[in-house]
Order: sequence, then structure tokens, then C-alpha cells
Amino acid sequence: METKRIYVDHAATTPMRREVLDAMIPYFTENFGNASTVYQEGRTAKKAVSEARDAVAKAIGANTDEIFFTGSGTEADNWAIRGVAYANKAKGNHIITSAVEHHAVLHTCQALEKEGFRVTYLPVDEFGMISPEDVKNAICDETILVTIMTANNEIGTIMPIEEIGKITREKGVVFHTDAVQAMGMMEIDVEKMGVDLLSMTGHKFYGPKGSGALYIRKGVKVKPFITGGAQEKNKRAGTENVASIVGLAKAISLATAERCEKVPALEKMRDKFIDRVLEEIPYTRLNGHRTKRLAGNANISFEFIEGESLLLMLDMQGISASSGSACTSGSLDPSHVLLAIGLKHEVAHGSLRVSFGESNTMDDVDRIVDSLKNIVSRLREMSPLYEAVKNK
Ligand SMILES: *Cc1c(COP(=O)(O)O)cnc(C)c1O
Repeated sequence: METKRIYVDHAATTPMRREVLDAMIPYFTENFGNASTVYQEGRTAKKAVSEARDAVAKAIGANTDEIFFTGSGTEADNWAIRGVAYANKAKGNHIITSAVEHHAVLHTCQALEKEGFRVTYLPVDEFGMISPEDVKNAICDETILVTIMTANNEIGTIMPIEEIGKITREKGVVFHTDAVQAMGMMEIDVEKMGVDLLSMTGHKFYGPKGSGALYIRKGVKVKPFITGGAQEKNKRAGTENVASIVGLAKAISLATAERCEKVPALEKMRDKFIDRVLEEIPYTRLNGHRTKRLAGNANISFEFIEGESLLLMLDMQGISASSGSACTSGSLDPSHVLLAIGLKHEVAHGSLRVSFGESNTMDDVDRIVDSLKNIVSRLREMSPLYEAVKNK
């Protein structure tokens, strides 16, 4: 009998909700107009984009004219960082970020270093937490941007964004946050957080892939990202992807409305999974913070295990998860996040990220843990290192 597959990689992407698809379909078919045209089809498209902008603004406590649509979360991050850097070149060349950012942020900062900007990559503690005090101490006269993620995509750690926001305000430095993982999981309010720019992407909250948005606080100077037509107030040219924009807005509206009801269930699954694994499988450790972590995220290191083997064997048992390492992206280097929290290379290599979402149940938690117990002991039987430790 074919058992139901269990998908626990919601931090990588989520399935699109039926209501989102239903909201999008008319904009592929009868409402196909170009939002920049003046006749009826165009006006219909323009109205849809405008309503979507309202909805996104409402979800994060922003004004409608502060929301700009992009083609992905990666694009929003690129635009925020490059846009602020280029617009403030005359003021200074220093950028502050953390060692555990998503590559969309890290690689953009590294590219800017080649263009003459100076970047400080702040370390994190053993839980992946950044210290606001470190941010404060790193700010100098030349600092033009602080970019720190709201929550980490690998280990789920939720950063002290409000505290950092107070510091950047006080110092008059622009503050960007990559909130891609946090959207739909926790309250996101740009005023409370004290951020000036915020990135999001539709496909992490049950919306379409290839849809993103950047919040830019009124008055913050940001260079246009794509030149061409007058779309997105002359800042991000290209005919609007109306259906995706509608889908992103529908998804964030649903996620925001249902958050309080749905997040506790995710936390329950996460905590049961973590408790059972740590209790029932020896030589394991939890990566990230025990409580200040995203609702659906669990990240565990299994000593004497290769994460990739673990993933393949889980896959054969019908379970889709992720290794904490970057191996899947074709690199053998362990995850920069796991190294930043102090894991040794070999321990980082034996890490697993399980991210729960809407389709999961408490039964799934038990099935995953039972599979893991079995797989881990089989893999360890093949490990000479484990044999040595066991027989000591
Ligand atoms: C997924 C992710 C991104 C990239 O978003 P895309 O829309 O896939 O380009 C950026 N930052 C974080 C933290 C992410 O998890």
C-alpha cells in the first residue's frame, strides 16, 4: 500500500492554496489586461494591482504607496541592499549585516564589497542570535545600511528586530530586514519593528512562486532597480505580473487572518518533534533557540551521520525534509549558518531541517520520528566513528 507522503520542507516552499489559485485564474484569462493601459481591460488589471498593494500594506502596517512588487524575495533583498547602497554613496560606504543571512543578502553584500563598499558581518551566539549591542557598536559615521533578517531560514531563530530598530532610528541609519521566513508566522508590523525596508516572497506563505514585495518607508532614498517603463513608480520597470501580485496579496491576507489560529498547531508539532528526537535518539542536538524560534522550524544535528544520506533514506520512506547544509545547492561546504553557531564541520554535515506547515498533523510527527530512529541507527551501524564511541 502506498502511504501518504509527508512534506516537511515548508521553509523551502509551500503549496499554493486553492483560494489563492482561484483568485489568480481570472487574471490569466478574461482579465488579461496590461495595467498600464487606459481602456477597460487595463483599468481592471490596474485596480487588481492597487487592491493587492492595499492588502499587502495592511498586513504589515504600512501605507499603500510604500509597497513595491518584485519577482521574488531574492529580488526584494537585492533591491533593498543595492538600492540603499547606491543612493547613499555620497554619505558613506559601510553596511552592517549578520553572518547568518540568506545568500540573497550575503552574496549581494559580497558583490558590493567588490564595488568598494565595506561590509561588517556580525557574529551570532550559539543560538544564532545577534546582539543589538554589537549592531550599536558597529555603527560608524560611514554606515548607510543595517540589514538583519527577521528570522533565520535554517535554524528558525527570531532576531531582536525591535531592539535593533530602536538603535538604527536613534543613529539615523537605514534598516532593512529580510522577513521572508517570518511572514505569516508572527506579527509583522513595520512601525513596531522600526524597519525602513522589508522583503517578503509569496511562495513561503502559500502564494505563488516568482512573486515578491519590498516595503520601502516613505522618504527613504532607494535607487530604482530595473529601468524601463514607469511601473512601480519608476522604480521597478516591467509589465506587472498581475496574477502573481493578486496571488501574493490573497495569500498574505489569508495568512495574516488565520495566523493566531494556526501557529499554535505548528508550535505543538515542532515541540513534540524536538522533544521526541532529543529524548529518543542519542547524540543529537537542537540547533537554534529553544523558544525564540519560528513556529514550524526544527533543526537537529545527528552526530556520526551524513545529512545527505539521512535525506535520501527519509525520501525513500515518503518524507521530504531538508539538510541544514548547502550540499543540495551543489556545494560540499557545510551551512554557513551552522558554522556560525559554532558547530564543527562534521556535526554541521549531519543536520536535518524539518519545517512543518498546514498539511501536517501530529501523526506525521510520530511517523517522522519513528523513521528517523530506524534510519539513524542503521546509518550509525555503518559508521566506524560511532562504533568507537559506543564501545568506549
Ligand atoms: C526563500 C528565502 C529567500 C528567497 O526568496 P525567493 O522568493 O525564493 O527568491 C530569501 N530570504 C530568506 C530568508 C528565504 O527563506
